[in-house]
Amino acid sequence: MFRKLAVAAALSVLVAPAAWAADSKYLTPFPAHHVIGNIYYVGTEGQANYLITTPQGNILINSGLEANVPMIKDSIAKLGFKYSDTKILLISHAHFDHDAGAAQVVKDTGAKYEVMDTDVGVVESGGKTDFNYGDKGGENLYPAVKVSRVLHDGDTVSLGGTVLTAHKTPGHTKGCTTWTMQVKDGGKSLNVVFVGSPNVNPGYVLVGNKKYPGIAQDYEKTFQVLKSLPADVFLGAHGDYYGMPAKYAKLKAGGANPFIDPAGYKAYVANREAAFRKNLATQQAGGKL
Ligand SMILES: [Zn+2]
Repeated sequence: MFRKLAVAAALSVLVAPAAWAADSKYLTPFPAHHVIGNIYYVGTEGQANYLITTPQGNILINSGLEANVPMIKDSIAKLGFKYSDTKILLISHAHFDHDAGAAQVVKDTGAKYEVMDTDVGVVESGGKTDFNYGDKGGENLYPAVKVSRVLHDGDTVSLGGTVLTAHKTPGHTKGCTTWTMQVKDGGKSLNVVFVGSPNVNPGYVLVGNKKYPGIAQDYEKTFQVLKSLPADVFLGAHGDYYGMPAKYAKLKAGGANPFIDPAGYKAYVANREAAFRKNLATQQAGGKL
């Protein structure tokens, strides 16, 4: 219980306190499910973790919180796969809700931890060098872990015939990464996008940020990249980016795969870009959001 409260307190720093009810969902178990092709959801209600299976072992995107690791393990087992077959660990970005459990996953499975260049310092310092949260302590800090491979924008990660491409989409963190890959579905090849995060968190300074002078230009770059990516299957670092619970309910009901949602992807990116522009304009006018 204490642990839950500690997590709750730290999460309330990450998002507006009023949104706390939604964030408890990070620790709420959610049914593991097949998404499409060789992609499976092994996250919680609010915390997205993906298992990508191949004949040569599996790739895990996001370790989640330290408390999420046993939940991921359970989800992988329920789907009939082996946690010990995790060969590569990737992250959406270096924030504790996606990477605090990484040290445990690497220790348990021996997976290679492959991280975008400008997030490497943050994960290797256990969150201490994050431009916004590094000095906030609490749950923002977590066990440090050494990265096995430093990724650069456009690099690929390959395993057993699956190829993931790392697109640097910075701003939310300096090395925030949007992953893309292709899957086969009903004989067709589809483009999958795992959005890293286009969100400007409460308290983020977009104008005159001494620890991250280029933050606004980086968000601009991110929206250019996101708008340029071909997206058939829309996924992301949190389920609420793509309406996961409602889509899961549709999946259970049968019919067309609800995760194929190119229009939903476009609408989400447009909505997030508008939110960024509004925040930037407010800060440029000397206000705060
Ligand atoms: Zn984040």
